[in-house]
Amino acid sequence: MKKRINAERIVDTFLGYTTINTTAQPGNQHLPSCDNQLQLAQQVVDELSATGCIKVKLEDNAITTLSLAANTPGMPAIVFFAHLDTAPDHTGDTHAQRVKNYQGEDIVLPATGEVISPADFPELRHYLGQDIITTDGSSLLGADDKAAIAAAVEAIRYMVASPDFKHGEIKLVLLPDEEIGIRGAKALDVAGLNADFGICLDCCGVGEYVIENWYAGSAKITFKGVTAHPMSAKGKLVNALLMANEVINALPVAERPELTEGREGYFWVQKLVGDTAHATLDLAIRDFEIDSYQHRKSTLQTIISQLQRRFDRENIILELSDTYGNVKEGLDKKPLILASIQQAMQNLGITPKPLTMRGGYDGSVITPAGLPTVNIFTGAHNFHSTTEFIPVESLRLAGEMLLEIVELIAKGTAA
Ligand SMILES: [Zn+2]
Repeated sequence: MKKRINAERIVDTFLGYTTINTTAQPGNQHLPSCDNQLQLAQQVVDELSATGCIKVKLEDNAITTLSLAANTPGMPAIVFFAHLDTAPDHTGDTHAQRVKNYQGEDIVLPATGEVISPADFPELRHYLGQDIITTDGSSLLGADDKAAIAAAVEAIRYMVASPDFKHGEIKLVLLPDEEIGIRGAKALDVAGLNADFGICLDCCGVGEYVIENWYAGSAKITFKGVTAHPMSAKGKLVNALLMANEVINALPVAERPELTEGREGYFWVQKLVGDTAHATLDLAIRDFEIDSYQHRKSTLQTIISQLQRRFDRENIILELSDTYGNVKEGLDKKPLILASIQQAMQNLGITPKPLTMRGGYDGSVITPAGLPTVNIFTGAHNFHSTTEFIPVESLRLAGEMLLEIVELIAKGTAA
């Protein structure tokens, strides 16, 4: 088994990042949504600058690019991506604990008494005899995505210290506010990275990697009603809420999040606010196939056109926007990346677990923008939860994967 990443060192690096609370603030439109993301970025900059080999660009919006020059000409340039923020579901004010030599028992989180039990999380049984890092129960762990930052930093440190390890240009890009609308990736100058492949580390257990995700868009529909006193409303009152209700009722009943799974798409009624005079309706649209995704948007346009014919056209306005895309199209154009991931897992004794992701990640924005960017595991489980945990060996393997992929791409053996 290859051991180029030192387990104790990557744990120290990771735990250092968990002490900086980078909880995303959805109500704050500023990028980054909390200043601590800049503090974490600065810490990574300081750590890698100490190697003396890294070029750094830290922007005001916390987008951070750390570049290690190629040591061999003609090799592809690869970007590692990790996000700085943690999910707003729980605080990221994290106090981690390390459970040594796990033997299958319930893990008690000391601050709250909550337990992480193999009865609820059977995947714990895969880690018998290993050390496992959890929180004290009062926060999430933030391995999503600080484990990714630690894995990338340790992989780069290894490359700096190993002149015989051949690589093209390697960049680590830290992105703010992935958890609240993939905002950092949307603000990223993808073309400016001038790279061939991207690797996000934003999946869960060892072996997981994303082969496709869905197209995501949103619709905002505004309804303007006509008010009238109810005693003389006949023929005058136009109720904005009821117009919105007609749109909801016109959507296909079986195509809702709660009734779909796998590769099935949906319309998701997310928010309806208003009164008789004025209402807004927010919908999310998801589909894996571009044709069906476009068809969903035209279905919505048809529903609105029909309603506009019955009411005054200007009083019903539909705004459609695309949020992110399916990475499959971009990844298929550069088969070396997925082939390298599969080969890297084989070389490291990891069972590959390809995923169809009902969601998006930074790569879902970066890939359609021109840089094919896959998503591989960090090794952590139970993202966005107080029961989030990461086995030390899984964290080490995340770092090892990056080195193995870089090596395989450099050798071109996976083509
Ligand atoms: Zn994440």
